[in-house]
Amino acid sequence: MTLFPEMCEAVLSESIIGRAREKGCVDIRCVNIRDFTADKHNRVDDAPYGGGMGMLMQTQPIYDCYRSLYAETEEKPHLIYLSPQGKTLTQSRVKELSALPRVVLLCGHYEGVDERVLEEIVDEEISVGDYVLTGGELPALVLMDAICRMLPGVLPNDEAKELESHYNSLLEYPQYTRPPVWHGREVPEVLLSGHHGNIARWRREQSLLRTKLRRPELLETAELTKQDKAFLETLQTEGESDG
Ligand code: SAM
Repeated sequence: MTLFPEMCEAVLSESIIGRAREKGCVDIRCVNIRDFTADKHNRVDDAPYGGGMGMLMQTQPIYDCYRSLYAETEEKPHLIYLSPQGKTLTQSRVKELSALPRVVLLCGHYEGVDERVLEEIVDEEISVGDYVLTGGELPALVLMDAICRMLPGVLPNDEAKELESHYNSLLEYPQYTRPPVWHGREVPEVLLSGHHGNIARWRREQSLLRTKLRRPELLETAELTKQDKAFLETLQTEGESDG
């Protein structure tokens, strides 16, 4: 639900998500809230009570737009309002949302939305980070992209996503492609060795090392094997003896 459906369509018809929609892996519709306004001048916003700057999106067009979507299903669809006041989006929430049969996203604009319609229809507020954007369209696109790539058949290789950053609370290991030497920088030898066991171990260790250096707090929720823990302890000991 947006005032700028073309902006969303432009992104959602390209590349991986565009192909996924063509293949029928996911059904996305961008609905224009303005089509539901009862105002004869097509207005969807008004000045805030109590004064202050900017305009607010009004209750009526949003509620009627939502009712038209609700009418299509037996169950109430899960409604997410993209908002800087919501919970910050994480990969684990993305995974949970990708299991729902249907999700409706509400994009705010201007100074935001009349609180009463939010109270009436919103199940969850999601933020893409602690900063403010001009509208909810970019956050909604971020959320849709993240959900879509979790759906079966969207990525060329469904297992690939399990290795990527944040899937298991770890950051991904560094990656390299041809040429083997670039600006004097060599690809790590183990990756050219063809030894699958050693490559897998190196990647796991790099992943642990990166997470420890860049986002140590993620290790608290990561699923770690005995071997992983032993490796992390060697880093600790090396760090202590270094300094
Ligand atoms: N006045 C609101 C406040 O201070 O909380 C901010 C309104 S913002 C200018 C306009 C719209 O952009 C919001 O209604 C929301 O849909 C969207 N938006 C802005 N920043 C966002 C963020 N970090 N995450 C998700 N949505 C955001």
